[in-house]
Formats: sequence, C-alpha cells, structure tokens
Amino acid sequence: MKTAGEHLISIDKFAAIHVKSPGFMQGKLKRHYQIQKEVSRGDYFQGVIELRALLRLAGKLESDQGKIMVEFEFTASDYDCPILNGRLETSLTVECQRCLKSMDVAMKSEFKLLIDAPDELAHESSLDTIYSDNGAIDIFEVVEEELILGLPLVAMHDDISCDEYGRSQDETPDISVKENPFSVLKKLKTTD
Ligand SMILES: [Zn+2]
Repeated sequence: MKTAGEHLISIDKFAAIHVKSPGFMQGKLKRHYQIQKEVSRGDYFQGVIELRALLRLAGKLESDQGKIMVEFEFTASDYDCPILNGRLETSLTVECQRCLKSMDVAMKSEFKLLIDAPDELAHESSLDTIYSDNGAIDIFEVVEEELILGLPLVAMHDDISCDEYGRSQDETPDISVKENPFSVLKKLKTTD
C-alpha cells in the first residue's frame, strides 16, 4: 500500500534515527541533479533552500521567510532503479485554526523515493516514485512536495500562546453551569 505520507515520519521517531552528519552545512543547493552521474559518483549533498524559492508551498503559509535544511544522496536499488535518499528540516509559519494567529511548526522528514521506476516496480514497491525530466531531478520540487504533504491539516497552538477567547469558544460548556438552575430550584423547594 502506498500512501502519500508514508515516507514522512514523526519528529519523535526521527530523533531516534542515527543522523549521518552532526549538522547541516549552510551552502546553497543547486536545483537540478543528473541522476546517473550522481549515482555513479555516490556524492552526498547538504545545503539550504530558501523557503521563498518554493512558491507553491509558500502560498500555503503565513510567511515565506525561512530556510530548509536538506541533505540527500542518489543510490541504486537492487532492481537497478535509482533512489533518492534524504532528509529535511525546517520551521514553517502557519495559521492557528483556533485563534487565527501565526504559529511555527517544526518539520522534519526523511524521504526515500524511487526515480523513474518501471510501472511494475512502482506498483509493487512501498516507496513512492518520482519522475525525472530527461534524467534530471529538481530537488526543490521534491522538497516542496514533501513539505506540502507533511503540513498539518489542522494546526493549533497547544499552549498558552493560543488566544484565550478562541479557546473558550472551542471548549465544551461546563456541565455544572447547566445544572445550576436546577440546584437553585432544589434549594428553594427544600427551604420551603
Ligand atoms: Zn492559537
């Protein structure tokens, strides 16, 4: 079964995974990579993508300011199909669905994607397949898609920074308030 978010993992799970490098280098990434060349070289890439360069993603956010840390490599699978293996890390500003103020959401994701897998392999594999443009992959597009798939459907503050008015609206009414009129009646009756 393939699901859109299958290759996305939670922050907690991510923390347990051995990280290949202690930190991200701050260099900018180029946009396009020739797959066969990179598979044969076995190079490992690290760098930063400016959030504002990803227009489709930025259009879903409250702010296009920020950086996405990315690292990835191209390898060959057992079936001789290239694989893009990587991870990303960033913080995105979205709108809280409760108080409608901005809130930051930390995003970390690992991705493992088949490149140009033949139909049969694409169908059988648990990995998603991406398709190259004449043998080249646009890493910006891959990262953008990962982040869009990983965006929370409903984002809400989980602390006191969430507006109090909005919060009280969202809460179910206190039952004791509903019971008050009756208890008052009871008291009136018994004192009669
Ligand atoms: Zn809020």
